Amino acid sequence: MNFESLGLAPALLRALADQGYAVPTPIQAAAIPVVLEGGDLLAAAQTGTGKTAAFALPLLQHLSNAGATQTRRPRALVLTPTRELAAQVHDNLRDYGKYLRVSSTTIFGGVSMGPQMQALRRGVDVVIATPGRLIDHMQQRSLDLSGVEVLILDEADRMLDMGFLPALKRILSAVPKQRQTLLFSATFAGPIKALAMQFMHQPREVSV
Ligand code: AMP
Repeated sequence: MNFESLGLAPALLRALADQGYAVPTPIQAAAIPVVLEGGDLLAAAQTGTGKTAAFALPLLQHLSNAGATQTRRPRALVLTPTRELAAQVHDNLRDYGKYLRVSSTTIFGGVSMGPQMQALRRGVDVVIATPGRLIDHMQQRSLDLSGVEVLILDEADRMLDMGFLPALKRILSAVPKQRQTLLFSATFAGPIKALAMQFMHQPREVSV
């Protein structure tokens, strides 16, 4: 099994070679084809399994295929429980997307809103955000979620543990119904299943 056989574009294969990744991890092998086909995905995967690349690679491919536009409306939204994880996802998107023209920015609390608002105004393809601060931007109308084509919930179980369910529900109601949704969680506990039932469309389940 190699990355090429998963259907990834040459620009991504080059970036992966630069990273020194030779073989897809099990979650990558299982998830990437499903995501490239455009279907919803419910993935059980812990940190350290390579889950970030499992969603980041097909996301970058989708955005570059359709020609990244850098309009003011982001085309993808990644939600993470913490600012550290948001920063890590951002770094990975930059590494894997180094030969593509896809822009991303992070939105998280504990820092001032101003620079984040400016970045959003300039226009960005992917927003990586923690739920609380994203809601602040929605209230300030500094963010228009009506162009979101792909929504990713990373470490969804931790977001629920941190009390973000009400925020998640608000965000999920603000993105278009017609979209692709990817949910990553360490477990498929009851509340995760309930969230998936309510907000996902016939998700494929992958567990590693
Ligand atoms: P993650 O589970 O996304 O936090 O990734 C865990 C670590 O594995 C990160 O440091 C990645 O850079 C690395 N990694 C991801 N995919 C691969 C791969 N296919 N081969 C080698 N390392 C990888």
